[in-house]
Amino acid sequence: MSKIKANNPKLKSWIEVPKDSEFPIQNIPFGIADFGNGQVGAATRIGDTVINLYALAQLGHFSGVINDPHVFNETTLNRFLACDKKVWSAVRQRISDLFEEGNTTLFNDSVMLKIITTSVDKVTMQLPVAVGDYTDFYSSIEHATNVGIMFRDPANALLPNWRHIPVGYHGRSSSIVVSGTNIHRPNGQTLPKGASSPVFGPSKLIDFELETAFITGSGNKLGEPIPVEKAEDHIFGMVLFNDLSARDIQKWEYVPLGPFLSKNFGSVISPWIVTLEALEPFRVSGPKQEPAVLPYLQTTGKRNFDINLEVFIKPENGEETRVSRSNFKYMYWNMSQQLAHQTVNGCNIKPGDMYGSGTISGPTPDSYGSMLELAWQGTKPVKLNDGSERKFINDNDTVIIRGWAEKNNTRIGFGEARTTILPAK
Ligand code: MN
Repeated sequence: MSKIKANNPKLKSWIEVPKDSEFPIQNIPFGIADFGNGQVGAATRIGDTVINLYALAQLGHFSGVINDPHVFNETTLNRFLACDKKVWSAVRQRISDLFEEGNTTLFNDSVMLKIITTSVDKVTMQLPVAVGDYTDFYSSIEHATNVGIMFRDPANALLPNWRHIPVGYHGRSSSIVVSGTNIHRPNGQTLPKGASSPVFGPSKLIDFELETAFITGSGNKLGEPIPVEKAEDHIFGMVLFNDLSARDIQKWEYVPLGPFLSKNFGSVISPWIVTLEALEPFRVSGPKQEPAVLPYLQTTGKRNFDINLEVFIKPENGEETRVSRSNFKYMYWNMSQQLAHQTVNGCNIKPGDMYGSGTISGPTPDSYGSMLELAWQGTKPVKLNDGSERKFINDNDTVIIRGWAEKNNTRIGFGEARTTILPAK
């Protein structure tokens, strides 16, 4: 059982929380909300109620923890993320105290409550951070193995570096968007099968990548690595992440420097950042790493998290079909190792940076994290509930990623990362 008071599964809120809600008082995620009344700012959520953190701060509810309420009167959470981990935790605890059953401070003040709380259906969630730098890792052994089998050599599916380095690349942050943002099918160069020169046009092979991302807080100075055992102090929390990919563009362009335009036409995140602290109760051990990793990557204790992940495809005017069921716990490389590796050469990180996990595939074919793997390069089309089949994503299909952790009847959820693929322009 967790020692963090705000994580106690017995806690109840005086705000109504629907049964099976992903946002009980034990979650307290952080996001940026457009409250629908002209105000945009930092928010948290309990049940279906969105709470205005700037309003709480102005009333002095964070005094002694955050004395400048303007930290929450911003269109991004970057200033809050720049605060110390102790501050993040203390803010979360204050919110927990204020909304815990029996606390009447706000409960009895209907005028104040109107200012502080808004129903979730009146709120539009924004991108929670101004994403500074963005890295995408390749840390699922099942995914890397599947891709290696398909594109290289089944006998040597993993490249020689894979078990030694959390492989990754620097991506582009400008096209990271919040759930609900729709993305046009990109145009680009591809090499048709058997052809000797490329053609230009809409990508024919649009795919999702089931990922999570972690978002960092205060960073390190240039030249000073973050030791692996201190890495979690710099991680604020996690979101769901759909790293949309154009496989045909990717195949032609990626040699020798890696993905480029096939990966930066839109990547979709869930709007609420679930704190690492809220995920404490869901820690699990990761897969055994063999051979042993170099000392700067060695971690102790439980560094993975048991987070259920699902992907759904919804055709235009159709119903959702679940096409994948995976779990974050399958990750071979954990977030501490990723961040230690990112900074081991002295590379500095900043508040609001984002780090994608890489596609999270599980061990069974129904747990693969991309259409590339689920339909095995188009050889095993995926059947949807309406009888139609998909090898990749069609125009006007909506892709939805959902994720949650559950224990002791407490469900800590991320909500969803949703996007519709619109026809090419
Ligand atoms: Mn990816």
